[in-house]
Amino acid sequence: MARAPIVWRLGTVTEIIEETPHARTIALDAPDWPGHLAGQHVDVRLTAEDGYQAERSYSIASAPESTMLELTVERINDGEVSPYLTEDLRAGDQFELRGPIGGPFTWRVQDGGPLLLIAGGSGLVPLMAMLRHRAANGSDVDTRLLVSARSQADLLYRDELARLAQADGLEASYTLTRSRPEGWTGFDRRVDAPILTRVGPSPATAPLVFVCGPTPFVERVADRLVELGHRPQAIRTERFGPTGV
Ligand SMILES: Cc1cc2nc3c(=O)[nH]c(=O)nc-3n(C[C@H](O)[C@H](O)[C@H](O)COP(=O)(O)OP(=O)(O)OC[C@H]3O[C@@H](n4cnc5c(N)ncnc54)[C@H](O)[C@@H]3O)c2cc1C
Repeated sequence: MARAPIVWRLGTVTEIIEETPHARTIALDAPDWPGHLAGQHVDVRLTAEDGYQAERSYSIASAPESTMLELTVERINDGEVSPYLTEDLRAGDQFELRGPIGGPFTWRVQDGGPLLLIAGGSGLVPLMAMLRHRAANGSDVDTRLLVSARSQADLLYRDELARLAQADGLEASYTLTRSRPEGWTGFDRRVDAPILTRVGPSPATAPLVFVCGPTPFVERVADRLVELGHRPQAIRTERFGPTGV
């Protein structure tokens, strides 16, 4: 059966949630949204008064079960689109989006596990959709989450992750690469083989692995995982490189 074309829709911002000093979640009302899988993204298109357009991709943060479509955008200081989305956008504003987009970088509870989710910075966004989907379905599949961020203030969804980590079968680990608060007990360096071994699960358990973040982060982590014995075909990656057109 032919797939329906992915059309541009006009989304309306219903709520803005400040997540960190540099990132915010944008909740949207998107008419006739067809639904999505955890891990997929949308394309966002902004049009200036003079007709100039800029297009970027943003992962969907909300679970497929959520009634709201949520994106979480981190500000890139010299960026064209992210400063607008993280500073100027207000509830009631509208912009175009199309989606959902993306096939291999998705997870449904029926895909099972064990699951190893590894995020660099805002690469946590599509993995959060997977964790929210897991929670919405009461899944207790063995799940390890490893988040790498520059500092504690940069950690997205901290309170929600702490709550989710109390659920059966979810272990969340963090590494802070630039600065750490007094008494920090997590990891303190870029993700390396010893960190991956500590976080687990063992490659022998054949986990499904999802790695997302800036391109160099994703490539380094994927290389270490393969060296540790993870099957390359079980490692799915999403690179948050520049997407401007
Ligand atoms: C599939 C996909 C999903 C994405 N999901 C998200 C998401 O959920 N949240 C989110 O915040 N971003 C996400 N991104 C990144 C996003 O698409 C933009 O690239 C980002 O917001 C920067 O856009 P900009 O216009 O502000 O910067 P640009 O004007 O495009 O770039 C400005 C400068 O920053 C550099 N740069 C661009 N993007 C990045 C980056 N991600 N990290 C570091 N440097 C960068 C550029 O090389 C350039 O030097 C995703 C990208 C992809 C491909």
